[in-house]
Amino acid sequence: MVNNYYQILGVHPTVSQDALKKAYRQLAHKYHPDANPNDSTAEAKFKEMQGAYDTLKDPDKRAAYDASFTSARVDDEFFSFFKGQTPAAAIVKLSFTEPLRACKKTFSYQRKINCKKCSGSGVLQFSTLPCSGCQGSGRSRVSANFIFSSAFSVVCKDCKGQGFGPSVFCEVCNSTGSLAESQEVTVTLPAGVMSGQAFRCFGQGHQNNRGTFDDLMVHVQVETHPHLSRQGAQVLSCVPLYYSQIVLGAAVEVESIWGDKLSVNIPPGFDYRTSMRLMGKGFPKLTGLENLEMGDHILEFEIRIPSPISERHRDLLNQLLQEENRV
Ligand SMILES: [Zn+2]
Ligand SMILES: [Zn+2]
Repeated sequence: MVNNYYQILGVHPTVSQDALKKAYRQLAHKYHPDANPNDSTAEAKFKEMQGAYDTLKDPDKRAAYDASFTSARVDDEFFSFFKGQTPAAAIVKLSFTEPLRACKKTFSYQRKINCKKCSGSGVLQFSTLPCSGCQGSGRSRVSANFIFSSAFSVVCKDCKGQGFGPSVFCEVCNSTGSLAESQEVTVTLPAGVMSGQAFRCFGQGHQNNRGTFDDLMVHVQVETHPHLSRQGAQVLSCVPLYYSQIVLGAAVEVESIWGDKLSVNIPPGFDYRTSMRLMGKGFPKLTGLENLEMGDHILEFEIRIPSPISERHRDLLNQLLQEENRV
């Protein structure tokens, strides 16, 4: 069990540094080894409160302790109720071609704001007495259930893990300390952005217990295309060629992702298993530089099998077959 330092010193988590010092001095006086010779319980108690005070007297260490305590609570809540205080996140969807240029996207998402009634604490009136539900540990044991074969401990429901009780919890926010708020944000995404990338929007996330707003993570999702695929800044497409075009050579028209139509020269006797590269016709590279460097458009080829075929087509192919058998 993790010791609750506030509990050890008999103070509330919101105690001021001065009141903390006062509480410590009183306890130190009470449990000091000089005042309790040969009393091992008092000695242990003295060491325990000394350790707790060493952490809480330093504002930085206290903040770190509070944060770890809070995150432990959050994990437990996620574990037991399947709802976690994860960072605010939103998905922004782009069409396949939108990343060709930098683009602005406006979307709405849900974030948490602190409940005004309880100032984000979830509690209207704190108790300074140890909670009877968990004997002040902040955690209660749960026996085996259908998922876990052994018992485990969860945040005490009576005191919400604070170790003090009975307190008066806030009904407005169901003692969570926060309420959901719909928020709209506009982001500018750089040219060349890809699926799976995430961007941080400063100060657009959940409101934290300091009253300021954390960051929002915006995850990019780019739609797929029926005929084109993408690998980083490269575009890939497949060009179907007739057998006759491969043997005789041909000029075929290919449309680039930028919308321009390009004539591609297929030489006679072309090895269709090779690929061709349309230089600079892909997506912008995410270099962070103003002068965008462009990826290429890779053309791959496949043999086009006509089906069904006309009588004339069949006759021509039969003639071709006779010719080929003769060679
Ligand atoms: Zn409790
Ligand atoms: Zn509230």
